[in-house]
Amino acid sequence: MSKSIIKLEKIKKIYATEEMETHALQSVNLEIKQGEFVSICGPSGCGKSTLLSILGLLDTPSKGTYILDGMDVSRLSIKQAASVRNQKIGFIFQAFNLIDELSVYENVALPLDYSNKQFSDEEVRQRVEKCLETVDMLNRSSHRPNQLSGGQQQRVAIARALVCEPALLLVDEATGNLDSKNGDAVMSMLRSLNDNGTTICLVTHDPRYADHADKQYRLNEGLIEIHPKPIAEAV
Ligand code: ADP
Ligand code: MG
Repeated sequence: MSKSIIKLEKIKKIYATEEMETHALQSVNLEIKQGEFVSICGPSGCGKSTLLSILGLLDTPSKGTYILDGMDVSRLSIKQAASVRNQKIGFIFQAFNLIDELSVYENVALPLDYSNKQFSDEEVRQRVEKCLETVDMLNRSSHRPNQLSGGQQQRVAIARALVCEPALLLVDEATGNLDSKNGDAVMSMLRSLNDNGTTICLVTHDPRYADHADKQYRLNEGLIEIHPKPIAEAV
């Protein structure tokens, strides 16, 4: 039995503005085990990005407990959260969030600068080249992001998410800005990363992409349910 990397218990998220309160997550319970490929699907506004921000320690829950890799991370300081995030988590977003002033190589190397660990120039080169090779973008190392197609930019963003060798990859609508050919290429890349041991949690409004996961959940008005059945049990 593999160990659980994520455990959420009764996670609630309320956004309060002057005019109103939004209950984005009502009471989410979720367990993700090491090595799983999980999707969470639901319509726009149902709380997917909120949930992923909490999982990725970009935001804190209003209530509830979050255990990440055996550690209670429900209420970390901003600095502690950044450190855990850098060590354990890689993000891929719909907007590629690459820096146009930097080359592809420099974009991918950037998270290593923020790492607690010190990397020699040689270690940086090896890691960046390995990740660019994984996404088949090594031959574009010196390009700028704005010289690349959307599909290529997303592949660079994936390389950047992998460079710190995260145990957990969080993916928010990564295919949203791509045509179906490039979307499928991203999905098959995620599949092979998962085959090599990376735990993946993907959120999407598109059931076609959610279907790629081994275990599928639905998020409905801030509540999670399994849908329809984990594939492993269905076969
Ligand atoms: P999804 O990613 O599924 O489209 P979100 O998690 O972005 O949904 O949003 C869930 C709900 O929370 C929505 O009603 C949205 O308007 C609200 N929301 C999201 N972020 C904020 C915020 N920073 N402040 C106030 N309300 C927010
Ligand atoms: Mg969203």
